Amino acid sequence: ASVIFVAREGAGEDRVAASPETVKRLSAMDFAIVVEAGAGAASGIADSDFEAAGARIGSRADAATADIVLRVNRPTTPDIASYKSGAIVFASMDPYGNEAALAEMARAGLTTFAMELMPRITRAQPMDVLSSQANLAGYRAVIDAAHEYGRALPMMMTAAGTVPAAKVFVMGAGVAGLQAIATARRLGAVVSATDVRPAAKEQVASLGAKFIAVEDEEFKAAETAGGYAKQMSEAYQAKQAALVAEHIAKQDIVITTALIPGRPAPRLVTRAMLASMKAGSVAVDLAVERGGNIEGSVKGSITTIGGVKVLGYANVPGRVAASASALYAKNLFAFLETMVSKETRAFAVDPDDELVKATMLTHGGQVVHPNFADASA
Ligand code: NAD
Repeated sequence: ASVIFVAREGAGEDRVAASPETVKRLSAMDFAIVVEAGAGAASGIADSDFEAAGARIGSRADAATADIVLRVNRPTTPDIASYKSGAIVFASMDPYGNEAALAEMARAGLTTFAMELMPRITRAQPMDVLSSQANLAGYRAVIDAAHEYGRALPMMMTAAGTVPAAKVFVMGAGVAGLQAIATARRLGAVVSATDVRPAAKEQVASLGAKFIAVEDEEFKAAETAGGYAKQMSEAYQAKQAALVAEHIAKQDIVITTALIPGRPAPRLVTRAMLASMKAGSVAVDLAVERGGNIEGSVKGSITTIGGVKVLGYANVPGRVAASASALYAKNLFAFLETMVSKETRAFAVDPDDELVKATMLTHGGQVVHPNFADASA
C-alpha cells in the first residue's frame, strides 16, 4: 500500500491537511496513513481521533517513508530534505514569486501539486481550496471587525435609546466578499459592496447589499473566461476610486478582499480615504498577504491609520482552523480520489488529466508548470 504522511504544519499555521473523516476514507482505499503527532491539535483533532480513524501516529522521521505527503503549506527546506525522491506532495504552494522554492522542490525529485491552481470547472469544485478557505476568511473578517469595533452592528431600539446599524462596505465580491456580505447582513449591518466583475452585481444584490461601481463599457467587459477579475485601466481605476472615496467616508467598517490571480493585490483604499472615515471605524485587509488593498496595512498586525483600526491578520482561514481544516482535508481527499483506480484501487498520477496539468508544479527533477517553467533553468 502507498504510504500517506500527514504533516504537522509550522508555527503560525493551525490547520491540518487531513481529518478523521478523510483518514477513514483513505484507509478504506488501502492507503497506509501516518499522522505526525500533534498535527491536528490546533484544529481540535486529537491524535487519538486520527488513530480511531485508522491512522498510525508517527514522528517527523516517518516523512522519509512517505509516497504521498499531505500538507496545508508548501514544505520548508528541512521538510523537503526529509522526503524521499519521487514523493508526491499536495499543498497550497503559493507559487507566484516563489520560483526558487519551486526549483528546490524540483531538485529534490518531488512531484508537487499546488492546490490553489485547481481549475474552476464543475468537476473540480470539490477540490477548490481557494473557495473553501476564502469563504471562511470572509466570515472571519466580519467577526474580527465586529470584535474591534466599539459599537454594535445591528440597530437596537431600547428604552435607553437607539443604537444605529453599522454600515459595512465590502470591496471585492468573490467568494470571501460574498460570505463577508452575508455574515455582516446576519449581524444586522447595512451592507454595500463593489467589484470590477459585472457578474458580481447580481450576486451582491441577491444577498441584500447595495452594489457600488462605475458601470461603464470597460466594466461590462471586465471578466476573464475563468471568471476572474482583469487588471483594470488607470482611467477606470481613477473613476472608481473617486466613487469609492465618497462612499467610504460614510462607512463604519470596510472589508477588502480584492485579488487578481498571479498579480499583486490592487490598491483600493488610500490613507486619505481612511482619514475620511469616523474615528473608531475598522478596516480589514484580507489581501494583506498579496501586497494589500489598503495603503499602510501591515501583515500580521493591527495598525491605526487616520483614526481607523486596520486589521492585517495573516492566514485568516487559520483563525477558523477547525472548520478550515475539515474543508481543506475534503478538498485534498477529492483530488486524491481521482488518482485511485475504482477497479484495481491502484494509485497513479495521469499526466494527461486536465486537473493534473493545471496543478502539477514539479516532476522528474523539473519545474513542469507552464507558468513557472523558467525557474528550473
Ligand atoms: P479572487 O479571490 O481572485 O478575487 C476576489 C474578488 O476581488 C473577485 O470577485 C474580483 O473580481 C475582485 N476584484 C479584483 N480586482 C478588484 C478591484 N480593483 N476592485 C474591486 N474588486 C476587485 O476571486 P474569487 O473569490 O476566487 O472568485 C472569483 C470568481 O470566480 C467569482 O465569481 C466566483 O464565484 C467564481 N468562482 C467559480 C468557481 C467555479 O465555477 N468552480 C469556484 C470558485 C469561484
